[in-house]
Formats: sequence, C-alpha cells, structure tokens
Amino acid sequence: MEKISKENLEKLHTLRHSTSHIMAQAVQELYPQAKLAIGPAIENGFYYDFDIEGVSLNEENLKEIEQKMKKIIAQNLTFEKYTIPDVEAQIAEFKAQGEIYKAELLEEHKNDNPTLYLTKDKDGNILFNDLCSGPHIENTKEIKAFKLLSVAGAYWRGNEKNKMLQRIYATAFPTKEELQDYLTMLEEAKKRDHRKLGKELDLFSVHDEIGSGLVLWHPNLALVRENIENYWREEHRKRGYVIVNTPHIAKSKLWELSGHIDHYRENMFFVQKENEQDEQFIIKPMNCPFHILIYQAQRRSYRDLPIRMAELGTVYRREKSGALGGLTRVQGFTQDDSHIFCTPEQLVNEINEIIDFISDAMEIFNMSFEVELSTRPESYVGSLENWEKAEAGLKEAMDKRGMKYDINEGDGAFYGPKIDFKFKDAIGRTWQCATIQLDFNLPERFDLKYQDKDGALKTPVMLHRVVFGSMERFHGILIEHFAGAFPTWLAPKQVALVTISDAQNDYMESVFNKLKNAGIRVLFEDDKQESMNHKIRNYLRNVKVPYVLVAGDREKAQGTVAIRKRGVGQIGEMLVEDFIEKIKQEIETKGSFEISENS
Ligand SMILES: [Zn+2]
Ligand SMILES: [Zn+2]
Repeated sequence: MEKISKENLEKLHTLRHSTSHIMAQAVQELYPQAKLAIGPAIENGFYYDFDIEGVSLNEENLKEIEQKMKKIIAQNLTFEKYTIPDVEAQIAEFKAQGEIYKAELLEEHKNDNPTLYLTKDKDGNILFNDLCSGPHIENTKEIKAFKLLSVAGAYWRGNEKNKMLQRIYATAFPTKEELQDYLTMLEEAKKRDHRKLGKELDLFSVHDEIGSGLVLWHPNLALVRENIENYWREEHRKRGYVIVNTPHIAKSKLWELSGHIDHYRENMFFVQKENEQDEQFIIKPMNCPFHILIYQAQRRSYRDLPIRMAELGTVYRREKSGALGGLTRVQGFTQDDSHIFCTPEQLVNEINEIIDFISDAMEIFNMSFEVELSTRPESYVGSLENWEKAEAGLKEAMDKRGMKYDINEGDGAFYGPKIDFKFKDAIGRTWQCATIQLDFNLPERFDLKYQDKDGALKTPVMLHRVVFGSMERFHGILIEHFAGAFPTWLAPKQVALVTISDAQNDYMESVFNKLKNAGIRVLFEDDKQESMNHKIRNYLRNVKVPYVLVAGDREKAQGTVAIRKRGVGQIGEMLVEDFIEKIKQEIETKGSFEISENS
C-alpha cells in the first residue's frame, strides 16, 4: 500500500464515512426497529453501531445488508446538509422515533448549530436522515467499491456500564481494484495472524490463570528472541552503549519524583501492602527513573558524555482487557530501552547515530520504514527556546541524510518532541515500533547535572529511545512479517534430516552430530510411520524449517546430502562439510544466500 497524501486521506475518510450512512439506511430498511448510534471512518474503513432489538447479526445478514446498500447506491441519491431549525423539537422527534442515541448526542451538541444529513432521490424525496456534521460526498454514485467485513459487540460510548451494541465493520475504496487489493491483503494477514501461527508453531501462549496480556514464551519463540537479544547486545556494544539491569519494583516515592504517580497512575500496578505501615511499592511501567539514578550515582563531566545506557527492561502497564490480545497488545513486556544523556551540542549527532542503528536493524529484518516527527503541543514543559532548538535538531538530523518524514504539528508529548518509526511489513502494513523521544522534563525533575568545560553545572539533554519497541510486540510483528518462516539465523530449527530408508540411519546420525557440533539447530526424528515425501513436506511447509537434508545410499556412499530449501525446493547435492560451511555463513551474515549459486 502506498502512503497517501493528507488531502486524499480526507477524501477517503469522507467517502468511507458517507458509506457508513448508506449502511445505516440499509440496516434501518431491513430492520425498522434498529436504533442508530454512530458511524465514523476509521483507519482502513468505517463502522456503524446499531441497537437492533431481537436480532444478532450474522454473515448472512451482512450479505443482505450489502445487497440493500447496492440498491440504495444505484438510486443516485444526493447528500444534503440541513441545519436543524428547532433543536428541542428535533430531540423530541428522535425520542418519539425511539432514536435514543441520536437524541442523547443532539442534546450534547445543541449549541453547536447541529445538522442533519438527508439522502434524497432525484425527485427530492427524503429517504433517510441522520444526525451528522459531515462532510459527505455529494451523490451515492461516488461509492464504487465497498465491503462489509465483520460484526462485533461494542458498548455505547465504549463504556461497559452502557448497553452492548452491534458494530458492523466495513470498508470502502475509490476503485474496485483498490478494494480487491485490500481484501487480498486481509486474507494474507489472516493466514499470517501471529495468534494462529503461535499455536501451530508452538511459539507462545496466554492463559486466563495468569491474566490477559501476560505472555508465556515457549522454547521455539524464546530461541528466536535469544538470537535477537544476542544481536541486540552485540550492536549496542559496537555503538558505544553501556548495558545495565534494574529492578522490577520501586517505592512509590520514586514514581512521585518522576511524575508517573500523577500522570500515569491508571496504567500502574501497585504491589499489595500487607500492613498499613508498609511502604507502597509499584511495579515499574518504565525504566527511565532507574537509568536516571544510575546517571546520578556519579558526578558527571562533559567528558563523560554522551552516556548511552541500555537495558532489556521488563515493564508492566495496566490496560483495559478488551484492548488485549496475542503479542501485540500486552500488559507485561520487555522494552529494548535506552536513555541517552548528552550535551546540547551532541544532540544532532546522537539522533543520527540512533537513526543509523534503526535503519541497520530494519535492513536485517527486510523491513522499510516511514518516519513522523511530532512537534510541540499546546501545553508543554521546558522553555520555548529549547523546544525550538530540539525540533530544529531533529529536523536537521533527518534532513542531512535526505530522509523523508511527515510532521505531526502539536502531536509531541508535553515533555518533548519525538520521531516515530513505522515499520513496513511484507504485506505492506505499517507498525509503530522505534521511537526517539526528547525529554525536557525528567532532567529537570531529577535535577540532573554535568560539569561543562567552563566549570559550570549544566543540565544534560535526555533522549528515550527504543529500536524494536517491545520484544513481545516486535516478535508478533516478525511472526506475521515472515509468515512464521523465520530466516535461518532465527529459525528455532534450522535443518531437518530425512533418510530414504533405514539403511542410511547410521550415516544420518553422523550427519546429525556434525551439524550439532557446528552449533546448528538440527532435527532428526525417528518416525517410521510417515513416508519420506510426507516428512519433507511437513518440515518445509508446516514446521517451516529452512533446510531439509535427504540421504539415500548414493549420498551415504559419497558423504553428501541432497538439499531442499524452504520456499525454493531442491537445490542440489553437497558434501556435508560444505553445507555446514554455507549455512554457518548464512547464519553469521543473518542473510539468505542462494546455496545453489556456489555449488
Ligand atoms: Zn455523516
Ligand atoms: Zn524512558
């Protein structure tokens, strides 16, 4: 999917939202008792919430609604804005019609010059109206491609104390081709769903007994993570970071000082106190205060800076359980966190170094990325001068390398501007992962200092930075990006061995030992039940092992193996020692080279 301009995005939203009104019209024609709630455009589509007494919508119903919508659209109805002349009368009318949600909304907006949208046929007959401020398309003939996707429960106004409504998710696109591309992508996404693959490949699980959003990493995914963590440590050492470890809980005093108690309370887990006089402890939602205290444990001079401090720090953040699922929405997760303390003069260079790091890391995973800069919001801490300098610094770092980025004016955190990196996966979806966040707040709150060249004590600049974001989320993204077929350096099992008959079992045993001794994760199962071809297929397609090595009498006599590569097929025969050399090279370079080229 190509990134679309802001203007086109607005047009698309208008188209989608207008289609939601047509959906509401269709639903009310089919189910006259249906009460309408709201129908906004959302990322990738739109929804509408309905209260339909006595009906629980199913897929069959969605098809009927779709048909009805097509008929409505074919009438070339116009959308017309209509300012409500007498709001009280309109509220009474909504109530009389049973449209309690619209009445409630209108009540709230009665001083905002509320408007209705009418759909009219060519003779000017009003076929439908809905409370809305727009904007909308002019005529239903502009709706050329739409599709209803699913139905789910949703509380009125997202509040679980309210009635559960039925939400129909749908999408619309300017052309049939774009719709088809999107639906194909959705199909592909379904196949790659990390929750589904997580089960099939025995990667992870979540349990009611533990709590939602708290993940168990099974050996297979833990192995993937181990390799990524090894890479992570190696890269940090190379790039001049120091690695630290910090505790999981701290006294509430620390979180008062950091401001988390005031600004982040709802997301924090409190450790139960046994006695009233016991000190209150809090499970850490962030690693920052700990790293700050490490900085403060020594007197710092400009010569010590920059200090790049990193930790794979596990944090816990309370989330509403409805928002949780799989690896991508969790309550406990390990951040690949880092805090950089530097002088203002070092800032641009530090940002550059981080961007280099992120770019290199993404290249390894074969992902590209998009970048957004979020600038000063209306309410902020720190001086205007510092903000301007910092924003200019962030821009300078990106401009210097010719990097393209979008600017989200006023979207920064109150404590500093930030750069967000959205990783683009194999099927074109983007995922927010890496961020670089400047912080004017914490250095002040903790009174951080360094002694500058002139002897004066000054406040260092502080950066928060993650490359992968959270390990949980990043692995969820990786599973979907690779569709479970991890590259060789990450694959839980890198090679599987299969013999043509039992006569080669001893030989394969020796191949197994050679591979194992070379540090390769190899699988040799003694399963007489299955045919050779079945085993090969199963390893390559289901277990998703990168290589299967096969040996018959001929290979045994020559000390070779026949190689089958996942996603490619047979790629030739090789001496066992040569294969080991090749695969070791592939693992070391974290690449995937064509073994057949060199053999
Ligand atoms: Zn509308
Ligand atoms: Zn931080």
